[in-house]
Amino acid sequence: MFLSKSEIIEILKSSDTSILKKADDVRKKYVGDGIHLRGLIEFSNVCKRNCLYCGLQCSNRNVERYRLSKSEILDIAKKGVEEGFKTIVLQSGEDDFFSVGMLCEIISEIKNLNVALTLSIGEKSFEEYKAYKDAGADRYLLRIETTDENLYTKMHPNADFQNRKRCLYNLKELGYETGTGCLVGLPGQSIESLADDILFFKELDADMVGIGPFIPHCQTPLKNEQAGDLDLAVKVMAITRVMLPDINIPATTAMESLRADGRLLALQSGANVVMPNLTDDFHKKMYEIYPNKVSSTRKELEGKLLNIGRYVIDENFGFRNKF
Ligand code: SAH
Repeated sequence: MFLSKSEIIEILKSSDTSILKKADDVRKKYVGDGIHLRGLIEFSNVCKRNCLYCGLQCSNRNVERYRLSKSEILDIAKKGVEEGFKTIVLQSGEDDFFSVGMLCEIISEIKNLNVALTLSIGEKSFEEYKAYKDAGADRYLLRIETTDENLYTKMHPNADFQNRKRCLYNLKELGYETGTGCLVGLPGQSIESLADDILFFKELDADMVGIGPFIPHCQTPLKNEQAGDLDLAVKVMAITRVMLPDINIPATTAMESLRADGRLLALQSGANVVMPNLTDDFHKKMYEIYPNKVSSTRKELEGKLLNIGRYVIDENFGFRNKF
């Protein structure tokens, strides 16, 4: 279903929440009741960027920085595979310590475990993205964060909105399953720009879209700002499902961090993916992009899913079945 910008704005501004049920129906029809799990490894919290909202911004001197070694990363990946994960996600800050050669080695060793591999390591050149793809990476997550260029520039000092877009189109061109998404509730963000965000996901033909409410972190310049509205974030996600019916949409951790049942609400409003965290507890605490990041074990999660009539599947490694 295609919605125009004004139709999207109307849905976002109204108190009517019927879009959530509609998204749940579309999700069931196009991607079914199965939930794909992606096992997340946060392998470095070192970051050269200074995103205003993010606890890992380079100006935050209170973060104890870490990098996992190749063997530590592989051990976590192996444990994930033993637990039954069919996708491993490697995420980090923008950390130039990891050279293309090092990352390619890590990628190909993880691929030897017979899993799909997703990268979420920020903005790189076309050549770097190509090298990772050639080494075996299947998917890439890079949220556009906001399509409001002015707001983007305010939120990301010394970063270039056009470059972020370029990255996403490069990833598509290289044949990655490309994931993007946005934050909801950034200070100064308008409803109109959220509608533009959704239209951008459509224009890019994103294969995955992750949407999360902004959560203020006390060691960032946005510490005194209000958190994003969970219900609005869920609505943005639901409209995305209706407009891109066959894509993969995670119920994001940030949603659960704002409200205990946030992830289940998301799974009943269009989402079909959950990304449990495989990082060990010691390092997990140090990867604080926002406070109160919840994490649940695979077992706990499976129990909750059954309660809402859903279950984990690993058909086709969870790749998008283009409709
Ligand atoms: N360095 C990588 C990974 C970033 S962390 C990259 O640039 O893509 C993953 C996501 O966490 C970000 O894309 C952002 O949307 C989200 N995030 C960061 N800080 C947040 C906050 N304070 N509240 C909610 N989400 C946040």
